[in-house]
Amino acid sequence: MKRDVRDELIRQAIEIRQRAYAPYSRFLVGAAVRTASGKTYLGCNVENASYGLAVCAERSAVFAAITAGEKQFECMAIATQGGAMPCGACRQVLSEFNPDLPIYIVDVEHPEKIVEGNLWDLLPGAFKLADKSKGKTKESKVPGPKSKVKGDEDK
Ligand SMILES: [Zn+2]
Repeated sequence: MKRDVRDELIRQAIEIRQRAYAPYSRFLVGAAVRTASGKTYLGCNVENASYGLAVCAERSAVFAAITAGEKQFECMAIATQGGAMPCGACRQVLSEFNPDLPIYIVDVEHPEKIVEGNLWDLLPGAFKLADKSKGKTKESKVPGPKSKVKGDEDK
């Protein structure tokens, strides 16, 4: 992923975060997912008085992309205060489309420090339905150490 493309994705995630509807947690989240066609789809978290109905920014972005007919995801940027990682539900949803999805995590208070990760590191062995045509479950990959924090290279 080119640096300028990554940085633009991060910028968009930070910007869309301001649209979050989070009157209960006050925890604003923005997500931007880039597709193979070069388009970007945005999402923010949407809470509800019935707490369990809340939808995360990451899934909002994925659903927007799917609604537009896109299924090949290249990478995602997620912006929060504190640089939170995606929740388990979002990891599973993302895994449906790209188990190796590169993910850029940004703390909006320190946007210069980007944590670059990979979905497989966050959710190794994601749930998959059995492949009935072969009579067994699909092969699982062994997780590898792909995540790194920018700036840690020199340590
Ligand atoms: Zn989530």
